[in-house]
Amino acid sequence: MSDDSKKSWRPRTQAVRAGLDRSPHGETSEALYLNSGFVYDTAEQAEARFLGDDEGFIYSRYGNPTVSMFEERLAQLDGSEACFATASGMSAVFAALLCQLQKGDHVVASRALFGSCHYILTQLLPRYGIEVDLVDGADLAQWQAAIGESTTCVFFETPSNPTLDLIDIQAVADLAHGVGARVLVDNVFSTPILQRPVDFGADVVVYSGTKHMDGQGRILGGAVLGSHEYIDDVLMNFLRHTGPAMSAFNAWVLLKGLETMELRLAEQCANAQTLAELLQAHDAVERVIYPGLDSYPRRDLVEKQMSAGGSVITFDLKGGKGEAFSFLNGLDIVDISNNLGDAKSLITHPATTTHRAVGPEERAKVGIGDGMVRLSVGLEDPADLEEDLTAALNGIR
Ligand SMILES: *Cc1c(COP(=O)(O)O)cnc(C)c1O
Repeated sequence: MSDDSKKSWRPRTQAVRAGLDRSPHGETSEALYLNSGFVYDTAEQAEARFLGDDEGFIYSRYGNPTVSMFEERLAQLDGSEACFATASGMSAVFAALLCQLQKGDHVVASRALFGSCHYILTQLLPRYGIEVDLVDGADLAQWQAAIGESTTCVFFETPSNPTLDLIDIQAVADLAHGVGARVLVDNVFSTPILQRPVDFGADVVVYSGTKHMDGQGRILGGAVLGSHEYIDDVLMNFLRHTGPAMSAFNAWVLLKGLETMELRLAEQCANAQTLAELLQAHDAVERVIYPGLDSYPRRDLVEKQMSAGGSVITFDLKGGKGEAFSFLNGLDIVDISNNLGDAKSLITHPATTTHRAVGPEERAKVGIGDGMVRLSVGLEDPADLEEDLTAALNGIR
């Protein structure tokens, strides 16, 4: 399956065909292998499978043919050697960290993190004697000061949720590699279509398939990608024996999602650009953060490591929570929901939802104010979205 000649396919071809492993029936679409176990022709074959001498499936917690097709397709799109799919994005993040860490290790992470990643780093890891330092990810001097000889890994997301801060992947990777630390990047906001962290030195990339890969609000899924050495020797046993396996059904949904992800993202990015410009010109809006805008502070990094601004816009409304709630409640098309990457436009108020648990102090440090909202732009007609946003902005009380 990992036929090297196929790795030169362009992303659109990979998205539709990479990893396809047809059964003897010759089905057009990827088959859904909805089975937990596998049978062996002989006891000798079972023994050989368990020894690792005979390639083939053993149990769906270890691997499944539909899940394998998804893993291979995503690995090729991401530019990574290998992939292990998981039940959710968070099980991917948790496993990618825990499989390699032990008591006494030191982790440096950027402060602007998805709420659940923040919980793992600041609440869980210290319980097991792992020291964690948080830095302002955009400030290279802080990374340099925090990364030391005892650092085993660094972790960050770029763009970050919800403030869309960019981190220079290559610069942080150079610092981390200088002390032999692994670089883990949560690439959920960009997907491998907009940004490939491995091209800039990342060692491990994690995804939530729940977002743009499915993109239609149906299932949860995640994935960890990296070198054969990391996936096979460091991660695999951790995942096989702790059990957050992706279901075959979810892998099948994600395989179909990957086929159209680039096309969906292109439209979502174009819609987001239009809406970001509209928002920037409206009196009720204090500030718009969108990497595609000329006003975005790190245009240099957008150009270096991303191919478009993404599907998420974050903006501050004049006023605070009252104005933000009034705006959200005034929307007709855009749904109030904390998911993102969906065909449906979704909006959330981070301070009271996704980032409620990090507390007011941390929110202030990463710049999440009470007037801030995060809009995930979908596939509706942009003219309808413009009308919806404008009416709700005009109606803010
Ligand atoms: C959603 C998200 C996750 C977690 O993914 P789930 O599939 O919801 O578990 C992790 N990181 C980022 C940046 C996310 O947006």
